[in-house]
Amino acid sequence: MLIELVRDIGYKTKPIDRDFLQKPNEYPVTGEHNGHKVRAGGMTRYDAEGKPYPTSNGIHGTQVAVDWENCVADGVCMDVCPVFVFEWALNPGQAGTGKDKPVEPGTPEWDQYRCDKSDPIRENDCIFCMACETSCPTQCIKITQP
Ligand code: SF4
Ligand code: SF4
Repeated sequence: MLIELVRDIGYKTKPIDRDFLQKPNEYPVTGEHNGHKVRAGGMTRYDAEGKPYPTSNGIHGTQVAVDWENCVADGVCMDVCPVFVFEWALNPGQAGTGKDKPVEPGTPEWDQYRCDKSDPIRENDCIFCMACETSCPTQCIKITQP
């Protein structure tokens, strides 16, 4: 049985925009991180209540895309991925439920991230099984076959 350790990030998440690749004006490529593209990094976006997200980390990855504003660090995507695509962004080399780096309120990491984030560092290894996308509790992963 999977253990879910959803972190409290203090705002209401919403699913990733499944059409983000078709909206380059809304989600322009704003940088690269660990070998994958980042879209809308540094840009103001809005949570499920219509309030601006307090973070602006953007969407990480293309064929394996994780919307970092909505990742709550429970680690299920890592637990189910058969080819180890993901690692924790703040705890490099580690993956899986309970192995995220705790982020404490009042710290610079809290201001920037609110919690650790699932980083698709090996997105080119994806075999498109869809296990992560269907398991993510906040629906913040979108898999796109090239
Ligand atoms: S679709 Fe499957 S192989 Fe690809 S990242 Fe998700 S769990 Fe891993
Ligand atoms: S991407 Fe989804 S399943 Fe993976 S750690 Fe974040 S919230 Fe959990």
